[in-house]
Amino acid sequence: MSRHVVILGAGVIGLSAALACARRGMRVTVLDRQPEQRNGCSFGNAGMVVPSHFMPLASPGMVGLGLKWMWNPQSPFYIQPRLSWDLLAWAFHFWRASTPQRAARAAIALRDLSLLSRSCFIEHARSGPDFGLVQKGLLMLCKTAHALDEEARTAAKAQALGIPAQVLDPRATAALDPAVSMDVAGSVFFPKDCHLPPERYLAFLHHELTSLGAEFRWNTEVTSWQTTDSRIRSLQTPAGPVTGDEFVLCGGSWSALSARSLDLHLPLQAGKGYSLTLAQPRQLPSLCAIFTEARVAITPMNGALRVGGTMELAGLNESINLQRVRGIIRSVPRYYPQFREEDFHGIQPWHGLRPCTPDGLPYLGRTARWDNLLCATGHAMMGLSLAPATGLLVAELASGAAPSADLSLFSPDRFSAF
Ligand SMILES: Cc1cc2nc3c(=O)[nH]c(=O)nc-3n(C[C@H](O)[C@H](O)[C@H](O)COP(=O)(O)OP(=O)(O)OC[C@H]3O[C@@H](n4cnc5c(N)ncnc54)[C@H](O)[C@@H]3O)c2cc1C
Repeated sequence: MSRHVVILGAGVIGLSAALACARRGMRVTVLDRQPEQRNGCSFGNAGMVVPSHFMPLASPGMVGLGLKWMWNPQSPFYIQPRLSWDLLAWAFHFWRASTPQRAARAAIALRDLSLLSRSCFIEHARSGPDFGLVQKGLLMLCKTAHALDEEARTAAKAQALGIPAQVLDPRATAALDPAVSMDVAGSVFFPKDCHLPPERYLAFLHHELTSLGAEFRWNTEVTSWQTTDSRIRSLQTPAGPVTGDEFVLCGGSWSALSARSLDLHLPLQAGKGYSLTLAQPRQLPSLCAIFTEARVAITPMNGALRVGGTMELAGLNESINLQRVRGIIRSVPRYYPQFREEDFHGIQPWHGLRPCTPDGLPYLGRTARWDNLLCATGHAMMGLSLAPATGLLVAELASGAAPSADLSLFSPDRFSAF
């Protein structure tokens, strides 16, 4: 009998884990409390595959920058002040992780995971139905010489880590993407980055899983876990228990709640972000880009243009903060002068909750407490980017194989002593 893997969560991480397990011959069941036509964090994101993002969110200078941004209602980062022990503990761990030494170690681990993921995407694109992967690179666009200097330093670090990066003046930037007018002081080009429409990638995963006979249980909330000694026996749902040999926690921003009932401490904050998609943009760039100072991501998708950004730590709430959305919209004409704020009138903002760990690294691997549980969550701003590698590593661990990347920094137990 093949091993039965039960996966909590049908976001991009859960489906990627499911596909890698199913392709290794395991029986797979995926549960999600949402209906099949869901629209959570894995759907409306910016669709970037980013080896360029090797610096974790918790890095030197971020605490000061975050404190500065907090007072501006349209800035890219915001923490809603509230009396929450979880938030205070998370902020403490973030501060501790933001040292040059820890960020440098995290950068190597993120680079390896990112490059593994990129090669998995390319392999998926070769072997299955087309999901729109574009391998043209990413531009970090800078309005100011100061930002360009900082990005040039990041480019030097990238090159030292084996990630190609080129610093470009305005003319060379324009030559790389002549389809869009840009008002910038320069850019850094990361040729290995890619982009894709996330909903097409999710459809690809679903299609492949269906053809391999995976079982989906939609509208199914996991309410508790049944355990004996160090093993999980089943997941409890309103429709009854779901048994399996191996369980994988891929619950996105809600993973900490599920983990708590297993006596596990996975500090996570939901980092809300928004995106708006222009169906008929005035101009259509061919490369994806990030407006560096504004921290806004721009991605061409099937003829449309998606604009996304902000990181709002306001708990597990789904409300839309229109001031933050305006901050995103206002940045567009500053970098792309042919665009107008009015272009966005009538466009409904999408929002998603990114699962953010305090040190900017995902929880990926086994815990000491449970023999048959794998955690795969906390990918924050890079869940799509890191999904195929995460899936591969989950399948390797579930089948007892040696993982193809060093997982020590990703241990789900790393905050358990606190
Ligand atoms: C504006 C924005 C732009 C972004 N851009 C990018 C980008 O360009 N590149 C990139 O790599 N990443 C990007 N991200 C981040 C990326 O979207 C996330 O990291 C990723 O979607 C997280 O996937 P996930 O599967 O972990 O979580 P989710 O997609 O949230 O999936 C978790 C699932 O678990 C289910 N679940 C939770 N608890 C339970 C329970 N108890 N019972 C049943 N079901 C449960 C939920 O219903 C949900 O469907 C962006 C995010 C935002 C907001």
